Amino acid sequence: MSTPWPPQYDPSYLPPPDCPFWWKDVETMDPAQREEKIILQKLQAQLKYTYEHSSLYKKKWQRAGIRPEDIRSLADFEQIPFLTKEEIRQDQRENPPFGSNLCVSRKELARVQGTSGTTGKPTAFGISRGDMQRIAEAHARIMWGFGVRQEDIVFIGSFFSLYWGSWGALLGAERLGAVAFPFGAGVAGQTDRAIEWMKEVRPTVFYGTPSYSLYIAERAKERGIDPARDFNFRILFFSGEPGAGVPSTKKRIEETYGAVCIDSGSTAEMTPWMANSECVHRQGMHLWQDIVYAELVDPATQKRVPYGQEGVTVYTHLERNSQPMIRFWAGDISRWVDDPCPCGRTYPRLPRGIYGRADDMFVVRGENVYPSAIENVLRGIPGFGDEYRIIITREKTMDEMIVQAEYVKGIDPQMISSLKDKLEAELKANGLRAVVQMVEPDRLERTEFKARRVIDKRDLYDEITRKR
Ligand SMILES: [Zn+2]
Repeated sequence: MSTPWPPQYDPSYLPPPDCPFWWKDVETMDPAQREEKIILQKLQAQLKYTYEHSSLYKKKWQRAGIRPEDIRSLADFEQIPFLTKEEIRQDQRENPPFGSNLCVSRKELARVQGTSGTTGKPTAFGISRGDMQRIAEAHARIMWGFGVRQEDIVFIGSFFSLYWGSWGALLGAERLGAVAFPFGAGVAGQTDRAIEWMKEVRPTVFYGTPSYSLYIAERAKERGIDPARDFNFRILFFSGEPGAGVPSTKKRIEETYGAVCIDSGSTAEMTPWMANSECVHRQGMHLWQDIVYAELVDPATQKRVPYGQEGVTVYTHLERNSQPMIRFWAGDISRWVDDPCPCGRTYPRLPRGIYGRADDMFVVRGENVYPSAIENVLRGIPGFGDEYRIIITREKTMDEMIVQAEYVKGIDPQMISSLKDKLEAELKANGLRAVVQMVEPDRLERTEFKARRVIDKRDLYDEITRKR
């Protein structure tokens, strides 16, 4: 079977509104058949194209002794070496601005996007016009899958900047024919205005970060507005932070807004395509394998792990002609399963989302700690507010973890110390040794974007002791 690559999608196509699928045949296909008939075909075309157009991969694969025509199965594909974030950065330093992996001419580029650069030099992404259409199609298809329809008003409460998430939500909403409400975030006073507009325009779908949705709700409540009653949201979908996949955070968001909370997103290098996302049933993110091919790999053996097991995420674009990522080692930890989802889609799922983001992980006393594990415990205990900080410090060369947690307003002051004990005990039961410091409501800074909740002060300790 030979299909044109990259795929061209009919921009006027829409499924019937009552159909839960965008492309029922593809989404519910027998997985082995889908792998053979669709994924492998797209993958082989992507590899051939990439080899011919990207000197980054050409050199890399030649060094490994691999040619695209050698890849005849998905098992063969595992011979392709991984691509790391550092390799992309290095390549972009040597070949600024896009590296030697930009496969189209400047004339074909539609957009420059990038990473925020908070953890090192920003990575630049060039996106072609054709890719823009395919991205819109992918987003629309997945948003359809979690229930967005033409009559919905999609409020995008996130930065319109280098950050891709907001643009993806906008493109998807527009392609799907829904009403896009690109509100943005980050300007002084904007949260209060967001609350006004939410009451006035009554948008039905929200996109942003989990942290920001909780902050908006908190501000609304202070003004006597109940988000579940006075707003009109039925779906909130998120990327950029793991929160929407953290069970107790998801529960909080759903109860606060009286709406469903959908987890989505993979990692910045892949995100022009939002190919990890939950469906309306919220049983963990589906890996939409015919859009972006995802693998879960054992970090030690670097082999794909069987379903049911934990591994780190590796992603491959299947329809990106501008700057494809092939076996990109995102390195986030998750577990995948292939048991059936009530929606009928046959894609594998990440039942607990991506709970270990490589960028968020820190090491305390030799143990890997993920902030989402602490968040899940904390937000599962009634009496605690939504905000917290994790401070890692050093006491006589030993690491100490301090969790600063806000309690809710109006709590009986006598309850505060028992709440502290409860959180410490539950953290301990989850293998997390921490000292809890109770903080009065509204003390900790709020965010309109991705929260930075981990403060590592160990360098400071080292600096002070070295000077002595
Ligand atoms: Zn599903």
